[in-house]
Amino acid sequence: SIYGDYIKSVIRTVRDWPEPGVNFRDITPVLQNSAAFRKLIDSFVHRYQELDIDAIAAIDARGFIIGAPLAYELGCSFVPVRKKGKLPFRTISETYSLEYGESTVELHSDAFQKGDRILLVDDLIATGGTMLAAARLIERSGGIIVETAAIIDLPELGGGDMIRAEGYSVFSACT
Ligand code: 5GP
Repeated sequence: SIYGDYIKSVIRTVRDWPEPGVNFRDITPVLQNSAAFRKLIDSFVHRYQELDIDAIAAIDARGFIIGAPLAYELGCSFVPVRKKGKLPFRTISETYSLEYGESTVELHSDAFQKGDRILLVDDLIATGGTMLAAARLIERSGGIIVETAAIIDLPELGGGDMIRAEGYSVFSACT
């Protein structure tokens, strides 16, 4: 992306968190740095401003951090994809498997109009399971996924390729 190398240089890697052997990619230094945060949002605005996006669907919780300013800047609506049990109205849900156990994402059943052009965003793609489950939910509710986008894609984990294999386009601000 246009500011990819710069954004990558500001992301912090925390070794052995939340457990031994995991290198957690921490985006908080990007958010703390006003110039970096602006460049991050601008890198998405630059890519999507001409693509007629009707709504940003953002994944609980770090996806919200980029999804809300992006929706504001693009002049489109914002829809939260939440973890199980958080949304108050009627919901549809998708359950997917994790390395250990499973997880469920939910969407309000009236979140989209049929044919709405949706940009799905999250902070990071690891195995791709979260993004794919959210993409399925959106399609079930009548939305068209224009692209799935993240701040970071970890290509060695194959998540981006798996999402592409399911027919979705994938963009990341950096890898
Ligand atoms: P996946 O479903 O692709 O395996 O995992 C992606 C989800 O886990 C995202 O919602 C993301 O927030 C979270 N995640 C997993 N590893 C990391 C990481 O190293 N850094 C951050 N910021 N999020 C992570």
